[in-house]
Amino acid sequence: MRFVEIKEELNKESGMRVIDSLLNVGLLPCIIIDKDTHEILYQNRKSIELLGDKLGKLCYEVICSKDKPCDNCVLPNMTGNVAIYDCYMELLGKNVRWMFSDISWFDGRDAVFAKLVELGEENITSDAKWKYLKDMDQDRRDSDSLTHIPNRSKFYKNAESILLEGNGDYAVILFDIDRFKSINDIHGMSKGDDVLMHIARVLKDSFGLDDNYGRMHSDLFAYIISYNNKGEIIKQIEKLRKKINQNEFDFDINTSFGIYLVNDRQVPVNLMCDRAMMAVKTIKGDVLKFCAFYDEQYRSDMLKANEIEKDMQESLERGDFKMYLQPKFRLSDSKMVGAEALCRWMHPTKGMIPPLDFIPLFEKNGFILRLDEYMWEQACSTLRRWIDSGIEPIPLSVNISRYHIKYNDLESVFTRLINKYNISSSLLTLELTESLFLDNPEELNRVMSGLQRMGFKLEVDDFGAGFSSLNMIRNITVDTIKMDKDFLDSEIASEKGKIVVNHTIDMAKDLNLQVVAEGVETKEHVDFLKNSRCDVAQGYYFAKPMPLDEFDKLLQ
Ligand code: C2E
Ligand code: CA
Ligand code: CA
Repeated sequence: MRFVEIKEELNKESGMRVIDSLLNVGLLPCIIIDKDTHEILYQNRKSIELLGDKLGKLCYEVICSKDKPCDNCVLPNMTGNVAIYDCYMELLGKNVRWMFSDISWFDGRDAVFAKLVELGEENITSDAKWKYLKDMDQDRRDSDSLTHIPNRSKFYKNAESILLEGNGDYAVILFDIDRFKSINDIHGMSKGDDVLMHIARVLKDSFGLDDNYGRMHSDLFAYIISYNNKGEIIKQIEKLRKKINQNEFDFDINTSFGIYLVNDRQVPVNLMCDRAMMAVKTIKGDVLKFCAFYDEQYRSDMLKANEIEKDMQESLERGDFKMYLQPKFRLSDSKMVGAEALCRWMHPTKGMIPPLDFIPLFEKNGFILRLDEYMWEQACSTLRRWIDSGIEPIPLSVNISRYHIKYNDLESVFTRLINKYNISSSLLTLELTESLFLDNPEELNRVMSGLQRMGFKLEVDDFGAGFSSLNMIRNITVDTIKMDKDFLDSEIASEKGKIVVNHTIDMAKDLNLQVVAEGVETKEHVDFLKNSRCDVAQGYYFAKPMPLDEFDKLLQ
């Protein structure tokens, strides 16, 4: 049955007038709803009086107080029939009866004409109200209060039933927003909430009513999908990231995805999520990676990392981190002109752990800030001890992890140290790794020039290992470049390479920089470097890093 047939040639305005005149004569509140989008296209006066202006709102929001179409929604099943719909309307605080009939909207869209035929408690059973309240309650328990998408426990339930019923291969995918805390800090919590709601909308748009997604907590979201190959999963992630980035915020929203391929459906969904999360953690801080697959190896790495983290604090307090010194020699006369402080962890049960096994982890968990300060203090107190015992002190160089530039106030830390030990700043060289110069040159320049004004020598560590060139460090005043071992090794193996290294050294010298070579292992290295204009060499050829008491003997 077609209730209102509006001729096609009517435009929207005249169409509306016709509908108005037809429907406002009636005494009952009426609305017209778009059958597909559920949008309220029209309200007569009576319905505006009763419900308020709801034009453009969605019928399930207004009638059912839901944020998505009801499971038992009558609209899709209406085919030329009339439907009676009894429900409790929160908006009115009353039980109501709607009568629906389907019609064509004047632009050809399928629509539903809804008339509120009965109003009040007494007309329909209180079962409807009870059922409504029960559904609402369940909905509230299942959905996340901010974004209204399924919450963690609902997602687990949904994923379980998907895995129980579905055939094929599934992947559980978790993602979070990089530096979400900074978004909250810089732009305010409500902007942070907007970002989360935006992401929930993207998930809704992408997955529709499948309910295969949810918000786990804070900025962590999850979804489960079936897939044929890994490439498909990545393509979909790329699509999601693109949609997430289409927004009106004036800052970037970067996301990191972790993928767990379900190979054993017996594994509880929460564990699958934990594993996907482990994969997320492996790419945190890596700007070049946006997703990673879970690998069994991660688990053992994480367990190892956890163990190390458990001990680090105690070890620092107990003095298990030892400073080793590796001498640096002037090539022209083989005189020892300095030494680099390198850390060794003398673990009470695991024995000596080399820095590459813990420094990267400490850089991730922030402990590097404390460990480095501890090492710098060791270097300063050693210099003091030498001076006190009448030994001519030789300059020591210490490593500065990149994280200090951002998170520490280096000037005040070093001021405190040189005052406490009453030593000259010229006795300390600060080694900063080359890749730092790619990060944030302005910030780095500010910090470095401050330190240089205080009299510290600055050295670019690992020079040649990455992408930096003398051109890049031209704008940042440093005193020394330290050529990376691999750069030296790989280049001087060929005649052309030798020319490259020689030119690099020449250019550095022309810029008044001192040149140090590290990882000098062979006589060939030494001969080559002696013929170039390189000033200083450090490496196993001369001496390995050694404990203090051994180093002391070199000074006597
Ligand atoms: P790095 O600063 O480039 O230190 C030089 C590394 O090369 C040291 O490794 C040293 O033992 C090694 N080495 C020296 N001469 C030779 C040689 O002739 N051949 C070879 N193959 N290697 C040589 P180590 O002590 O294992 O330190 C590794 C890295 O760990 C250091 O690289 C540095 O980046 C970091 N590190 C060590 N101690 C600290 C510290 O106290 N703080 C920070 N932030 N990083 C540290
Ligand atoms: Ca170094
Ligand atoms: Ca180095």
